[in-house]
Amino acid sequence: MDIKFEVNSPVHQIKNHLFDEKGLQVFIKRDDMIHPVISGNKWRKLKYVLKKAQDEGKNHLVTFGGAYSNHLVATAAAAAKFGFKATGIVRGEEVDNDSLFLCRLHGMQLQFIDRETYRDKNAIFHKYFANDSDAFFIDEGGASAEGVKGCAELIDELPETYDHIFCACGTGTTAAGIINGISQNKVQTQFNGIPVLKNGGFIKNEIDQYLATPLTYHLHTQYHFGGYAKTTPELIAFVKSFVADTGILIEPVYTAKMLYALFDLAAKNRFKYGSRILAIHTGGLWGLMGTKNKFL
Ligand SMILES: *Cc1c(COP(=O)(O)O)cnc(C)c1O
Repeated sequence: MDIKFEVNSPVHQIKNHLFDEKGLQVFIKRDDMIHPVISGNKWRKLKYVLKKAQDEGKNHLVTFGGAYSNHLVATAAAAAKFGFKATGIVRGEEVDNDSLFLCRLHGMQLQFIDRETYRDKNAIFHKYFANDSDAFFIDEGGASAEGVKGCAELIDELPETYDHIFCACGTGTTAAGIINGISQNKVQTQFNGIPVLKNGGFIKNEIDQYLATPLTYHLHTQYHFGGYAKTTPELIAFVKSFVADTGILIEPVYTAKMLYALFDLAAKNRFKYGSRILAIHTGGLWGLMGTKNKFL
């Protein structure tokens, strides 16, 4: 089957008194609207990975993630849509949650592996799938050169230009793709990445290894809120008011941290009056359900 479907996620303006006061026009690219399950950057990251699997004649996707991984959910749904078999190797002891329910519902086989063994994904793949000539290895989160290539296409779709582009960073694959897209299209814009992990400076090396040509960009490393999937009452309050004010659903692990940074930098006058800013909504909304307890 042809590995493609229409992306072209819309760009919506976010109206807000803060942005009016600071003379900013802020927009959000709704990659959360790409597909109900294969959402956001995870579809962009999978597109060329799936093409490669198909080109190599492999019809069994084997991939990795934590119990709340948006990548596992997206891979399960993409596998079902494009006719692949899929196995998800899940880090840690056996559990059940909404994300894993969705993986199973799409026909993904789940295999739980203890944290120590999980570290060496190549060894796991070799141990369990060496004799399966259909098995195709996809790294955790879809991190790969193919993933970077898919994310670069986001820039091709932009209807207008912006002074700044903001995006959350986990592995940095999406950021690297967007930066390559900016270079390839010779777009005049400044890329701003928000690492969601603590000590996110390491993301620079992850990003730079994929850049086709070097480009200056900014990493705002102070918006991790304690680390990956960690939250504070302030961040949760931000999610509530953003969703209630805009009608745009966001989750606290990635997009909320990025948008919080954007609002905070705006309040601190870090943007020139008249700036146009684009935030990327990277999706992952099924993961929101796994964070319900933080909202109690
Ligand atoms: C995976 C994910 C990211 C991080 O993408 P990277 O390419 O790993 O940096 C950002 N936002 C959401 C919603 C995600 O699921």
